[in-house]
Amino acid sequence: MELPPLLHEWFQWELLRDNWCTRLHQNRDDLEDAIQKVARMLIESRYAVAFTGAGMSVESGIPDFRGPQGLWKTYNPEVATLSFFSKNPEQFWKFAREIGDKLLKAKPNPAHKALAKLEKMGYIKAVITQNIDGLHQKAGSVNVIEIHGNIEKFICMFCKVVYDIEYVRKKLKNDAFPYCELCGGPLKPMATFFEEKPPEDAIERAAEEAKKCDLMLILGSSLVVEPAAQIPRIAKRNGAKLVIINMEPTWFDNACDIVIHERVGLVLPKVVKYVIRMTKKSRLSKLLDFFS
Ligand code: NAD
Repeated sequence: MELPPLLHEWFQWELLRDNWCTRLHQNRDDLEDAIQKVARMLIESRYAVAFTGAGMSVESGIPDFRGPQGLWKTYNPEVATLSFFSKNPEQFWKFAREIGDKLLKAKPNPAHKALAKLEKMGYIKAVITQNIDGLHQKAGSVNVIEIHGNIEKFICMFCKVVYDIEYVRKKLKNDAFPYCELCGGPLKPMATFFEEKPPEDAIERAAEEAKKCDLMLILGSSLVVEPAAQIPRIAKRNGAKLVIINMEPTWFDNACDIVIHERVGLVLPKVVKYVIRMTKKSRLSKLLDFFS
């Protein structure tokens, strides 16, 4: 799933170019102005969807991969490849034990809750997520497409029998890694690993949403993992407006209509606040028009 090195270099050039044609907020007023624009775009949209990445859950205490405190600062990314898992299930499960606890204990943060609220208010129609932590659903989002699976189920690498998390928990109490009770094969989380194809039906549904939308909010993703990163590109090709909210610049910033380099946990609740304020205001002015 990672980009080949040459493509990666090309994207780095894009990123540099992006920094020259900066359209970022320079101060608090600009940030507030950009947030209000996002709220207005949501109100005016016909079909808005969100595309989320690991940055969405950092404020829930789950580290991302490539951010400043990302997992790849401590671990070798090889640990999340299918080939590594096939050869060293025991070592993979050592890594999984360390981060698994954080994943399972995490709670939705203000960004997840704001997104769920926007769906409830009718402004967000779907959430396409690369995350495997289930926090969007826990926050109340309903139409969630998990393009990299999740950590609720585990599959035997040999006979493909599927187990739930309770079975795995029990096994991990006594064994170095969980294995299949039928054939003894190692169990792998049903989350997409590097070198592995993501679930086709989820990718197809996500691509459909990207074609259908006229606005996409891209939230907390470096957009370097393929084919997931195709989803915003599909939306762009089909004429959707794009908003990106990410702590750091991405190679895709230049393709977006609004770029905000801030925490999603700070920005999204403000978007909700402005959507409520703006829609209240317009209801009030309609009422005044009616009586005048
Ligand atoms: P990534 O690690 O490549 O990029 C995350 C981005 O989020 C970074 O650019 C970082 O600057 C930004 N970020 C960090 N904190 C943020 C915040 N509070 N607000 C806004 N932006 C913030 O993640 P990715 O693009 O999603 O791709 C990595 C892959 O890792 C995905 O496939 C995903 O499945 C997997 N992953 C998932 C989880 C999870 O489920 N929570 C955690 C780690 C990795």
